[in-house]
Amino acid sequence: MAAETDLITLGRRIRHHRKNAGLTLDQLGERVGVVGSQLSLVENGRREPRLALLQNIAAELDVPLTDLLSGDAPDARTALEIELSRAQLGPLYRTLGLPVVPASRSLPIETLESLVGLHRELIRRAKRSVATPEEARRANTELRMRMRERNNYLPEIERIATEALAEVGHTSGALTHRSVSLMAQNLGFTLIHVDDLPHSARSVIDLENGRIYLPPASIPGGHGLRSMALQAMAHRLLGHRAPESYAEFLQQRLEINYFAAACLMPHDASVRFLRAAKERHDLSVEDFRDAFGVTHEAAALRLTNLSTEQLGLKMHFLRVADDGAIQKAYENDGLALPMDVTGAVEGQLVCRFWASRAALHRTNRTTEFYQYTDTPDGTFWCATQTGKTDAGEFSISVGVPFAEAKWFRGRDTTVRAQSRCPDESCCRRPDDVLARRWRDRAWPSARLHAHILSPLPQGEFPGVDTLEVYEFLESHSGQ
Ligand SMILES: [Zn+2]
Repeated sequence: MAAETDLITLGRRIRHHRKNAGLTLDQLGERVGVVGSQLSLVENGRREPRLALLQNIAAELDVPLTDLLSGDAPDARTALEIELSRAQLGPLYRTLGLPVVPASRSLPIETLESLVGLHRELIRRAKRSVATPEEARRANTELRMRMRERNNYLPEIERIATEALAEVGHTSGALTHRSVSLMAQNLGFTLIHVDDLPHSARSVIDLENGRIYLPPASIPGGHGLRSMALQAMAHRLLGHRAPESYAEFLQQRLEINYFAAACLMPHDASVRFLRAAKERHDLSVEDFRDAFGVTHEAAALRLTNLSTEQLGLKMHFLRVADDGAIQKAYENDGLALPMDVTGAVEGQLVCRFWASRAALHRTNRTTEFYQYTDTPDGTFWCATQTGKTDAGEFSISVGVPFAEAKWFRGRDTTVRAQSRCPDESCCRRPDDVLARRWRDRAWPSARLHAHILSPLPQGEFPGVDTLEVYEFLESHSGQ
């Protein structure tokens, strides 16, 4: 590629000096011993000239050879021609399958400037949508900080969800699949369950035929399907367009998840339920979960949406894997989450004395695990529930500062732990005896964290194989 583009500049410099000398291709060709068409290929950067030919050309045009080989464009217009030629040879333009416009002298300057401008923008956008793991983590951290400022509460999405639910007459209790179908109908869509969804997509919307394709209804597990249908609809209701950056992609993901949660656990009914429980000093995620027929994690996250703005409680939420690594976290109650230098928390290990990890050692999973933990930033009370997936065990925790524990079931627990993290001597650094015993005698191999954000392949929809999706739609739209 580098050689190819250097040839373009070389060719343009030869042409520049030939024109200055007032020679046609044939005239110069005759003097240096090649036919004009051969020389044309060289000037267009499509043939690499031998050194002897270059020396002859330099001599005939009366310019130093080093001048011909200089990497600079001879003038501003030629610089644009070179840029256009390079862009059209690049991998990005070639994926579009469009014809190559010859960057010749006959191209009007406006056309040339316009094409180069479009190529620059195309390249800029493509670079933006390919997020490196660092960019992805940064975008995720920024989003977490923005949500913290808003107390994890998005009133505008609450309003849209409330209106959509009102149209199908749903106010409280578990949102049925029937109601979700009616909501889709109001948007002009039919929900269709298929067992051949593209592997890279969770759902696909056929805008032309008004269909939302979802995985088969036979997949077991809580509110998953209703949630997925609601998330697909949310893209439409919230006016989303194809995301132009990884940050926008994450923002949309957060919004559709928020919308689905706000439908499954409607605002007013949830606030009523939670306020009543608070008055009885009996707040619990498990009751909230069971009242609305959702998973423990969904109920815990929904509680953090409503707790500060509607219940006056600052809280934290943690989803931690069995190795102690954070999978998801939120706090606005001052709990010091472990973070890397960029401020990212995903993949960071939480203190082994926190309830999130202590609960993983329990054998009884039927009830919540309660614990008070003294930390350098104060004492926190936590309620933790553990679960298991194919990827391993995990724990879901919600917690509040000590003074707010009085509103929750489990406040009377006698379990108490001390954590001195982030001081590494708390639970990270081995003591001297252990260190002397094993230093230089141990060789552990790290387990990779699959959940740590990895870059998504570029494309109109990050992470989705668009061809697969279109093939899928093609095979279904005739039915
Ligand atoms: Zn610790």
